[in-house]
Amino acid sequence: MSTLATLALLTTIVTAVWVLLLRPTSKEEQDNTPVDDQRVSPLLRGIQHLLSDKPDLALQDMVEVAKLRSESTEVYMALGEMFLSQGEIGRAVRIHQNILARPHVPQDLYIQAHFALAKDFQTGGLLDRALRHYQKVLDVQSDHLDALRASLRIRELSHEWQEAESLLSRVERIQDTNVSLHRAYLWAEMSEQCLQKKDITQARQYAEQSLNISEHCTHAYLVMVTIELHEKNIPSVLANIHRMQSMSADFLHLLVPILYPKYSELLMQCWQESHHHELGLTWLERLAEEETRNPIENDIQLTPKYLRESLRLAALGQEGDDPLIEHAKIWRKQMKRYHCKYCGVDVVEMYWQCPQCHIWGSSVLSQEDNGFKELT
Ligand SMILES: [Zn+2]
Repeated sequence: MSTLATLALLTTIVTAVWVLLLRPTSKEEQDNTPVDDQRVSPLLRGIQHLLSDKPDLALQDMVEVAKLRSESTEVYMALGEMFLSQGEIGRAVRIHQNILARPHVPQDLYIQAHFALAKDFQTGGLLDRALRHYQKVLDVQSDHLDALRASLRIRELSHEWQEAESLLSRVERIQDTNVSLHRAYLWAEMSEQCLQKKDITQARQYAEQSLNISEHCTHAYLVMVTIELHEKNIPSVLANIHRMQSMSADFLHLLVPILYPKYSELLMQCWQESHHHELGLTWLERLAEEETRNPIENDIQLTPKYLRESLRLAALGQEGDDPLIEHAKIWRKQMKRYHCKYCGVDVVEMYWQCPQCHIWGSSVLSQEDNGFKELT
């Protein structure tokens, strides 16, 4: 946490403490009663310990302060947040558990403390425990959107796609927004999972379900093609490729690792029908990895449209004295092929879910947006 943020948080704590504990009540003002020294002493000690970077001693004093007035839970919560932001997860957990251990915890505080505790565990990577505390929140307030979203994220991280889909439905009902692409990608993941377990019937059913929800779910097309290849149902493979050409054309190159080398004739048909440059380049790059030249290379005639396409072709050249080829090869190794259309993060590999903003189906090819002008 930056010094500025720490200072801001400390100011919040001190202000909250002042308002809650030190500010004389109207009765005190009337009676001119001095502020209780018992309350001030551990508080000042606590702040002093915080400033001297002795968090354990600070925590001890703050617990003492909190015992004196029940309203001081705001101080507690702010302290917990500070420890969490500094990566002191154990201390944050102790604070939030202390709040919950009090007798007669009001419902709003119960929700707040369980949510904070869940965040502590999630940050610490204890996802099961985090889920349990988010569930405590949801047991009391079933439409708690942040708890639902956080639980959904954990289920996705754990590849528990069915549970994720059910949580997404609850989020959708509360938000009243269209989440069909997100939902389609979850069904595609379920399909992929079944495919890995060789449950072909279920895999096909889930992939169809995914495409019924959204025809733009690229992952579902790839799973369908893989299933139909496994079943040696070539007309169905072609039907899915054609559907992909019309609904998800930018990602035809993802067929290369599925179809090459065994189904090169299908790949060639796809190339001849689409002349999709990314498909041609990806295939040429795959061919260049082989030790001997493959005559298919001559059938993939590609006139580069962008500078980055020319560089990719140059990178396929034989290393020799040509410095351009050498530079192109270095550039190609570092090339970020995709970027997220929502958060803008550039990535080398294709992700169905953005690793930064976690939105599904947000990756696009970065060819036009990479600062290179069209050559023609
Ligand atoms: Zn993103």
